[in-house]
Order: sequence, then structure tokens, then C-alpha cells
Amino acid sequence: MPTHLRFRRRSFLGLLFLFSLSTSALYFIYSAPGVVNEYLFMVQARGIQLRQNVRNIGAQVIEQVVRGAYSGINGTDYAYDFNQSETDVPATPYLPEGFTYLPTHVCPEKLPSMKGRVDVNMSEIALEEVERALQEEEPSLGMGGHWKPHDCIPHWKVAILVPFRNRHEHLPILFRHLIPILQRQRLQFAFYVIEQMGNEPFNRAMLFNVGFKEAMKDMDWDCMVFHDVDHIMENDRNYYGCGEMPRHFAVKLNKYSYMLPYPEFFGGVSGLTVEQYRQINGFPNAFWGWGGEDDDLWNRVQYAGYSVSRPAGEMGRYMSIQHHHRGEVQFLGRYTLLRRSKERQSLDGLNNLHYSPLVSRRTLYTNVSVSLSRQMAPVADY
Ligand code: BGC
Repeated sequence: MPTHLRFRRRSFLGLLFLFSLSTSALYFIYSAPGVVNEYLFMVQARGIQLRQNVRNIGAQVIEQVVRGAYSGINGTDYAYDFNQSETDVPATPYLPEGFTYLPTHVCPEKLPSMKGRVDVNMSEIALEEVERALQEEEPSLGMGGHWKPHDCIPHWKVAILVPFRNRHEHLPILFRHLIPILQRQRLQFAFYVIEQMGNEPFNRAMLFNVGFKEAMKDMDWDCMVFHDVDHIMENDRNYYGCGEMPRHFAVKLNKYSYMLPYPEFFGGVSGLTVEQYRQINGFPNAFWGWGGEDDDLWNRVQYAGYSVSRPAGEMGRYMSIQHHHRGEVQFLGRYTLLRRSKERQSLDGLNNLHYSPLVSRRTLYTNVSVSLSRQMAPVADY
């Protein structure tokens, strides 16, 4: 082959290589939200697990030595607590089977019907089928997924807000698990699915703000649960009531090897009282695309003087539903915004949001469709 042709072929192959390298890099950085993060967390989680195993073995050896030495002296066999992890928090007492309460009493939080581990079934199912089964099981389940216990006064009135776009196969799976659990927890509840229309990147936080305002028009809720559609609870003792402090429910996710990815992680499922949410001015509206809005919420909660509470041990376990389709685009500007969380808190949130929703009542939820744009939450320069 003449040299100039060989040279051309080589530079063509070189260009092709560079092109595929840069497109795959772009894919990972931009269009595969969370893939890089997830991968890093997995590697980190495996490392932590390994270190913990080594530490546990070491602790066991020391324990045997200490036990041996002491039993030689006074014959006592005491438990020595080497492990500080929250899985070892003593089991909290749940009410015994057959415990009775009066319709005039506030429902207890630790009911005998809350057994712990839940069987998770990720198989796809039609929404109508779930509606039928749930109504057959509990005929008092009202339109919009409104329900309240009749044998006691619910401790919390909880609005479950689910931001949504294009995940129709996930909704029935979520309802199939969550509705019976909330009934066992004797909470009053209803679901609000806030669906983003239009072509802007997904804005989970703004959808929550819209959902909050719409839910409060519907009823005087006192607790808000901010719930990703693809997170399925694995333990029904993860009580969805609120508390003195904002709560992070989704502590251990299967996609992060059931470990908290970082101490400030506040994603997946969280809950605040209506008062707490108003006080922190809700979620920020400025996070377009995947990531960062939950970190900003964490900052807001801290600046308002709260700390975050979490369920202990295995109660905070969740499984994620597998996605069929490409996720949302990553928001690359999140770190810049996060540096200014404090300054933005009073300027951007519930107080600067204007929108026009389309609200319709469905059997298991209230659907709030809303087209989002940046002009809907203007922020002066800060
Ligand atoms: C994002 C969060 C996300 C977390 C875990 C962070 O980089 O900013 O929004 O929840 O990763 O996936």
C-alpha cells in the first residue's frame, strides 16, 4: 500500500479512537447520572466492609483474651461491647401480639403488625391490578390513595410526595409495597405524584416544592415524606412519621452495598414536618438535572439548627427498582451552588416559586402535572 494511503488509514483510525474515547467520557460524565458516583461508592463501600471485617476479627480475638483473663479472676461472663455500629443498637420494644388500643387513643408507633423484614417483589404489574388488590384488602382506601386508621387516632398525617417523569412501570411497584406498610403503621396518608412536563432537565427539588404546596391545599398535613419512585422499603419498622428533627429514611441502599455513601447523604427518602419544611424555605429550585438538591437540603436543615435523625440498624434498608431507560442528565454546576447554600436559603425555595399545575385525582394518588422552567423561580443575583 502507498505510504500516503497507509498514513491516511492510520490517522482515520486515530480519529475514530479519539472520537469514541471522548464520547464515552462524555457519556459517563454527563448522561449517566450517578453511574460514576455509584461506582465510586461501591468501591469505597467494599473497602470499608473489608476494613470492618478485619476490625471485627481483631475485636473478637481481644474479646476472647479479656474474657479469659476476667473469668479467671471472678468467674463473671460479661458482654463487652466492641462494636459501635448502629446495627447493634438494642432492639426497641414492639408491642406484643394481641395488644389492644382504643379508637379514642393515639395510635402507637411500635405496633405488633410491624414485623420487620418485608418481602420485596420487583416484578412489573399493571396499576389497575394493584388498585384492585389494595381496595379488596382495605375497602376504606379512598381516591387519591387517602387512608386513615379507624381503630385509633393517627399520630401523623403524612403526605407522600413522589417526583415523577417517565417511570410508569415503577409506580405500581411502589404502591404495592408502601400502601400496606403505611396501613400497618397506622398513619393517615395520601400520595401526590408530581409529574414534570416539558423538556427542561429534571428538577426533583422544584417538584417537591410544588407537591408540598398542592398537598397543603388538599389537606392540613403535618408531615411530608419526600420519596423517590424507585426506592422500595425493605423493613416495615421504618416508621414514616416525622419527629423533632428532620428524618432521613433511606439509609442503606442496595446500590451502595447497604452502606451510607457519606455522612451528609440525605437522598432517596426523607421526611420533615410541615413546620420544619416551611422554616427552611423548602428545597432549592435551582438544581436542574441529577444531583445536589438533597445535599442542599441537608445544608438548609443544618443552618436552621436541626440535626438529622435516622432509623437504626437494618430498618433503613431499601432496594432500587432497575431502570429500563437512560437516567436524567447530571447537574454539573451543583458543587458551585452548594458553596452558596446559606446565602441562597432565604432567596430560593418555597418563597420564590410560581407555577400553574394541572391537578387530577386518580385512584391511588393525586396527579400534579407541571411544566417547569427557570423563570418560575427567579432569584436575584447573590
Ligand atoms: C449527589 C447527591 C446524590 C449522591 C448519592 C452526590 O454526588 O450530589 O445528589 O444523592 O451523590 O448518589
